[in-house]
Amino acid sequence: MGLDQTSRRTVSSHDPQHEHVVGHWPKGRISRRAAIGLGATGVAGLAGAASLFDFFSKWRESEAPADIFKGDAPNNEIWELWRKRGWMKEASHYLKLGRNVQCKICPNNCILEPGDRSHCRNRVNRDGTLYTLAYGNPCTFHVDPVEKKPLFHFLPGTRTFSLATSGCVFRCLNCQNWEISQKKPEETKNPRGEELCLKPPLPPHLSHDQMSRLSLFPENVVAVAAELGCPSVSYTYSEPTAYYEYTQDTCKAARERKLKNIVVSCGSIEERPARDLYQFVDAAHVDLKGFDDDIYQKLNSGRLQPILNTLKTLKELNLWFEIINLVVPTYTDNLDTIRRMCAWIVKELGTDRPLHFSRFHPQHKLAHLTPTPVGTLLKARDAARAEGLRFVYIGNVPGLEGAETTWCPGCKKAVIERDIFAVTCLDLSDGKCRFCGTKIAGVWKM
Ligand code: SF4
Repeated sequence: MGLDQTSRRTVSSHDPQHEHVVGHWPKGRISRRAAIGLGATGVAGLAGAASLFDFFSKWRESEAPADIFKGDAPNNEIWELWRKRGWMKEASHYLKLGRNVQCKICPNNCILEPGDRSHCRNRVNRDGTLYTLAYGNPCTFHVDPVEKKPLFHFLPGTRTFSLATSGCVFRCLNCQNWEISQKKPEETKNPRGEELCLKPPLPPHLSHDQMSRLSLFPENVVAVAAELGCPSVSYTYSEPTAYYEYTQDTCKAARERKLKNIVVSCGSIEERPARDLYQFVDAAHVDLKGFDDDIYQKLNSGRLQPILNTLKTLKELNLWFEIINLVVPTYTDNLDTIRRMCAWIVKELGTDRPLHFSRFHPQHKLAHLTPTPVGTLLKARDAARAEGLRFVYIGNVPGLEGAETTWCPGCKKAVIERDIFAVTCLDLSDGKCRFCGTKIAGVWKM
């Protein structure tokens, strides 16, 4: 999953302690207080991307496909309920291998026999066809400051309508949202009871029960985001790659309505689906979890190289993106490795690519570790700057002076100051420093 800039877990539909309030968010720039309060693609569809020969050669050379959930597809009763709600859709980017199927969305490359469920928990093989069960059925949504993604160089001070379904392509030991990312759709949604499709006018509150049976199809997402005064929609909290079809269709609908799309992702996605999705995306936040493949496998059950490939693809596609790196004690806090990571970013992505070091807080399967020492984060920032990165931030350390300030690379004055997720000072004019006129990389207006 991608990482939001907070250790505060997200509220989800299966959390009876919380109710969703959908009509009470502040309009306009967010104050500090408010911020705190807050198709059958088959073989034919893949033609031109990877031939069967390419695919099988690659598979032989690399690792076996990821673990999957054998025989865990929904029974006929659940399947029928899901179908009636419109919460399933034939998947995109997959291969039919007789009655088996292989998903080609992420490097896990799940191979499923009829009745199996995927590694990300959201996809099943039903009678030789691959379906996603994560469509139009978010288990959580909120209005967030865009700074919480975190995106610091993209429409600062604006709010973004943020949503997620269950499921993830990774198994991070430190996951902050494991209660949704490591669940299957049937564990976060309940299709029984009266159907409820959220659309304007919005009710002031949603109960846990309403949230669990609520539908929010792409056109509804866009209408709700617009009603709430959000100029963008964010696909976040869990992992948008795991709800790829829903993300992509919603991105298309949002773009038609002139809303921006933001994807917050771990970056583990194959190139063809990445290109098909990101052509509709305006900004991305990629979680580069480290720069050591062994650690990636141990900490996240992922691989490093696909993330680096995705970052290069995003650069080529010319969309705005920022990088976050969670510094986890004993896993990703080695300064030499951090230096190598920063050098790679400078060489491949340029000095203007914002990098956010984020402080680890003990949780999930790493509850026994201590939080990242602030001194380690400061050394990481120094190393990144020494490698040439111009915009380096430290997150999840409230009160650390200058940690979230954007400094002009020309005159070295502060041009954007932030307090938690609120923008408190914005000294830019047409994307340039108001003091010396240096252009600051980013997207500053709609
Ligand atoms: S997106 Fe899900 S089903 Fe597809 S390869 Fe990745 S983990 Fe497997």
